[in-house]
Amino acid sequence: MTSASPNFDDLDTRTGRLQLPVPMGVDKVLLHSCCAPCSGEVMEAMQASGLRLTIYFYNPNIHPREEYLLRKAENIRFAEHLGIPFIDADYDTDNWFMRVKGLEWEPERGTRCTQCFDMRFERTALYGYENGFSLFTSCLGISRWKNMAQINDCGHRAAARYEGMHYWDYNWRKQGGTDRMITISKREEFYQQEYCGCIYSLRDTNKHRRDTGRENIKIGEQFYGVKNR
Ligand code: SF4
Repeated sequence: MTSASPNFDDLDTRTGRLQLPVPMGVDKVLLHSCCAPCSGEVMEAMQASGLRLTIYFYNPNIHPREEYLLRKAENIRFAEHLGIPFIDADYDTDNWFMRVKGLEWEPERGTRCTQCFDMRFERTALYGYENGFSLFTSCLGISRWKNMAQINDCGHRAAARYEGMHYWDYNWRKQGGTDRMITISKREEFYQQEYCGCIYSLRDTNKHRRDTGRENIKIGEQFYGVKNR
């Protein structure tokens, strides 16, 4: 569901943030989160607008498990810091691999990614439907590496499966969102993942790095705002 354009009359002078134009005027939102860096700004923006949000962490695409646990731990750490409920959903990797079978060589932003978003949003929408939410959204589109239209299509398609459920396709990059995402990540020294998440994106990113004279990704080494750990 698309919200109305933000109005600068709605600027909160205390936080310097716009009041978010939430669809249907609801104050309770389920946020699908993939990691702390992408969700940090979204969490703070929602809280500044007085929204009651719950984080739904469902990301069976992330490989290997070590990387999955790191991303999740960082997301939990920040959720606890802000006092936001965190739902730790399944890590059903076998289902994810079945879902993207035959799409292993698709490029990023291709049909494998559509399946990946669909799977994660379908589960989010189901959880929302079963737990009294009418609106869910995602922080995935805040990354400039992602195709926002592709993500929004997947979100709306997942919401349409459940009566009364809506997807909020707010552009979290706007109004300085992208810059604040980096600022918050550095302030909180979040773990900085260097590839999208799945084994295929790790493969392709490492190939690109080797082709350009860089070493393969070392999992668990890079943190925002920290030189070495
Ligand atoms: S590249 Fe990212 S969005 Fe695409 S399938 Fe892999 S993890 Fe999912």
